[in-house]
Amino acid sequence: MDIQRKIALITGGSRGLGKDMALKTAAKGLDIILTYRSKKEEAEKVVAIIKENGQHAVALQLNTAKVSGFKSFKTTLQEILESEYNAEKIDFLVNNAGIGINEPFAETSEETFDRLMNIHLKGVFFLTQTLLPFLNENGGIVNISSGLARFTMPGYSAYGAMKGAVESLTRYQAKELGKFGIRANAVAPGAIETDFGGGLVRDNDKVNNQVKQAISLNRVGQADDIGGVVAFLCTEDAKWINAQRIEVSGGQNI
Ligand code: NDP
Repeated sequence: MDIQRKIALITGGSRGLGKDMALKTAAKGLDIILTYRSKKEEAEKVVAIIKENGQHAVALQLNTAKVSGFKSFKTTLQEILESEYNAEKIDFLVNNAGIGINEPFAETSEETFDRLMNIHLKGVFFLTQTLLPFLNENGGIVNISSGLARFTMPGYSAYGAMKGAVESLTRYQAKELGKFGIRANAVAPGAIETDFGGGLVRDNDKVNNQVKQAISLNRVGQADDIGGVVAFLCTEDAKWINAQRIEVSGGQNI
């Protein structure tokens, strides 16, 4: 019997944490749809690795900060599901795409606030709402939050506030979507060495060392530390995990 493969859609899958999530989720036997904002080549490289390893993958362009583009993305997704996956729906949506901006609270401009809100909260809220009709029962939503929703680092007040809001949103999604068999969880990474925020944690020795001192496992996080947790949430083994915030930080600021 041909068992229908599960499909996970991961936003921001071209680089960093989203790339690792895509690779690890594919390694669990799911097919992947990943999105990117501008780095098509990077996204296609991730697609190629997944295909080489035997799963199907497609990369689609999407600006998750622009709600007005979601309707046409929905149409594209529908077409791709039919033509490339012989499917009508996805099983998991991972809201990962994001940016980091460091500005002290006293100096945070409305523009910065709006940029962070559009991508980290409004985009996550309305993309999930738009794609809800395409989400299979017994699937789930994984929202990527941040350790910065629990602890603080100067300069991240707007960012941390948006991630806190996403954790709240996750509980509401779990409450309202449970009746459809849809689980919603938040994964909150600690500081990870990626391009995020201009690569500050990776490239600035002082910051890197400060972060290391704050982590009980005594090293700074790598993208490879995160994807497997998201992949696990997209499996049957996680079928009873719902409405949770799972921090993946090596024990940062405990
Ligand atoms: P990266 O900068 O390495 O990657 C960002 C990804 O998001 C890329 O795929 C990028 O696409 C995509 N992206 C950026 N802006 C948009 C947009 N407007 N629309 C659609 N896609 C977009 O970041 P990370 O991998 O480090 O971060 C991923 C998530 O993890 C974010 O939500 C972040 O807040 C969160 N996080 C990160 C931590 C860290 O220390 N790195 C810690 C805690 C949470 P493209 O390649 O095309 O530009």
